Amino acid sequence: MTMWPDRKRFAVTLSFDLDAETAWESSSLDGRRLTLRSMGAYGRRVGVPRILELLAKYDVRAQFYIPALIAEMDPNVVRAIAEAGHGIGCHGYFHERVDEQTPEQNLRILRDSKAVLERTIGREVNHYRAPVWEITPDVISSLVELGFRTDSSLMGDDRPYLVGGEPGQLLELPVSWALDDWEQFAYSAEPAVGGVIEAPDKVLSLWTAEMEGMRAYGGHFILTMHPQLIGRPSRLLMLERLIQCIQQHDDAWWCTPDDVYEQVRKGALDLPVHPY
Ligand SMILES: [Zn+2]
Repeated sequence: MTMWPDRKRFAVTLSFDLDAETAWESSSLDGRRLTLRSMGAYGRRVGVPRILELLAKYDVRAQFYIPALIAEMDPNVVRAIAEAGHGIGCHGYFHERVDEQTPEQNLRILRDSKAVLERTIGREVNHYRAPVWEITPDVISSLVELGFRTDSSLMGDDRPYLVGGEPGQLLELPVSWALDDWEQFAYSAEPAVGGVIEAPDKVLSLWTAEMEGMRAYGGHFILTMHPQLIGRPSRLLMLERLIQCIQQHDDAWWCTPDDVYEQVRKGALDLPVHPY
């Protein structure tokens, strides 16, 4: 079954969650732990410019999900991403977990973070990924209410699907722990995060195998990366090798959430509907 445009066999999306400092101190950024904060800052200071260079070299358009606080702290990095032609999506205000907020708080966070990103880049922002991929029914309803086009937080399929049931159907671009650099590379002693810091070759092998699997089954290979992790030198070299490997397949449809939404809007993709 071909579901992808131009008779392509599978789809590929590179996405980056620019959590930066909010990954480490989600609500109290006035903390005194500078080392922790600097780990996050590396992502926007060093990681993003190198990632933009790499994406330009291979002519790849990617998607960046950004907490609004990072756009307030460092609007220039967000503008640089948008000006390079990449998609921007909401990712909380302080990277707060939505299951720990009331529905009213979530709606306000969504509205405010959308407005901050839109003010920063001067164009509409209507894609979303929940911080730590925890999403709740009220957030799905609010995303529909606010006119968001896609979410990318659920794991219920390996191809895009419609979520939430009538009338609140939202286009879901599903993720997977196997395709997240956090599981492979994140490490902190306190708070205790991660365990083994994996070698880039091992991760390249895991992601290449997943990519080949998606190719065999016609799936959507959606990679989630964090500039503070993937932006380290050895990992950027690994990402470059992965891009080269995918680009050897001329049956890959490289897309952003906007591209997928456009196909769905035209009725060109036949999507399953799932409750979550
Ligand atoms: Zn995040």
